[in-house]
Amino acid sequence: MADSAAPRKTKIVATLGPASSSEDVLDRMVEAGVDMVRLNFSHGSAEEHIQRAGLVREIARNRHRPVGVLCDLQGPKIRIGRFADGKIQLARGDQFILDADCALGDQTRVGLDYPSLPGEVESGAILLLDDGRVVMTVDRVVGNEVHCTVDVGGVLSNNKGINRKGGGLAAEALTEKDKQDIKTAAALEADYIAISFPRSAADVHYARDLIRAAGCNAGVVAKIERAEAIHALDEIIDAADGIMVARGDLGVEVGDAAVPGLQKRMIRMARQRNKLAITATQMMESMITNPIPTRAEVSDVANAVLDGTDAVMLSAESAAGQYPVETICAMDRVCREAEREDDGSHTIKQDTRQFQRIDESIAMAALYTAEHLHVKAIAALTQSGASVMWLSRSHVSVPIYALTPDKHTRRKLTLFRGVYPFRYDQTTTDRDLILEGAENELLRRGLVQDGDLILLLIGEPVGVSGGTNTLKIVKVGEHRKH
Ligand code: PGA
Ligand code: MN
Repeated sequence: MADSAAPRKTKIVATLGPASSSEDVLDRMVEAGVDMVRLNFSHGSAEEHIQRAGLVREIARNRHRPVGVLCDLQGPKIRIGRFADGKIQLARGDQFILDADCALGDQTRVGLDYPSLPGEVESGAILLLDDGRVVMTVDRVVGNEVHCTVDVGGVLSNNKGINRKGGGLAAEALTEKDKQDIKTAAALEADYIAISFPRSAADVHYARDLIRAAGCNAGVVAKIERAEAIHALDEIIDAADGIMVARGDLGVEVGDAAVPGLQKRMIRMARQRNKLAITATQMMESMITNPIPTRAEVSDVANAVLDGTDAVMLSAESAAGQYPVETICAMDRVCREAEREDDGSHTIKQDTRQFQRIDESIAMAALYTAEHLHVKAIAALTQSGASVMWLSRSHVSVPIYALTPDKHTRRKLTLFRGVYPFRYDQTTTDRDLILEGAENELLRRGLVQDGDLILLLIGEPVGVSGGTNTLKIVKVGEHRKH
């Protein structure tokens, strides 16, 4: 975070997989700028996820930088089974059978991880496999077999997803596997858990209850990837801590052309409701096999930044691609450049949000002051991070440093746009000494210099969660003169 290069505000989430499991690659990915890793529970074993989370935390510790862990539950996604040869090639006009009783697939058929599919489709239904790369129409259902004709051919490999055009498949909110995986996520102390395919706020509440019952304090991210979820967007956002614009499945269900507009709407709504937004899927897709992104991908990442997303996410690019580290570097570069264009486009003066809470009022006062006094930094001393959420929901060009003794809070804050969490242990309850200590810590890290104006936020009595009620405007170094 040298003074010349402004720190990146938008956060980078990287999915881990075979391409990013060695200590060396993971370390270079963190060095290149990964803020949070995603453990995708659609793939891999519990042991693998626990081991990867441990490795990430060790690397983060060595680099003195918090890195969050997001566990992404598979959800009631319908997937095909595995093939004897790993994959097949289908051509238009081919006959193909989705067979609930098939153990290992071949050129004519493949198994299903969702045995009730044959009962939920009828002839004429259009099935989209692998995010719509392969399309087939159902001819007839015979017992546990769904007989189809291929409309769009392509490669079909192990465990690819199946969607039905128009939505309407898979009713339950969490599968037995998800419930088991929540226990794994709790065991590895996930910072966030993403819920796949929620249709309503009730689905999100249900998941949160199970997560809390497992003794896990993770934030809950609702993946917006069903047609039904779009109709219940405001209640789902309110029920969650954040959303993921899950463009893969969403594009299949609502049509690809609807996704860019929905992305803008979702990000705007999340921010207005004091929630987080992650933009995901195919952001740097060509970098799975190429060392540089396409112009279209560069534009896509930049536009997500301009939309106001908290984080941009990589899936196969970092999990299974040939260039995981290069992809992070490219994303980092594109985000920084887009953020330069973003500065000042939306100011606090245009902010019409209503607020009632004391900590939110202090945060708004800090943002307003920061714009008028041209301060160098806002530093929030926080336990739970609540005040930092309010601060980060407005576009503000001033960096927000979150100083907290709580490692869980630091890791959660790795997802917040424009927020830089670091450790600050309060060794006294004397407010003035704590604030001087915070100032010294910012100086020591080279984030401010003598003479800079900074804003310090703190709650009194000190050390109590959720109680930010004080804003102090400080000129760095002044206190040493007294
Ligand atoms: P997935 O979710 O990668 O778990 O499918 C993201 C998406 O659908 O875009
Ligand atoms: Mn999905």
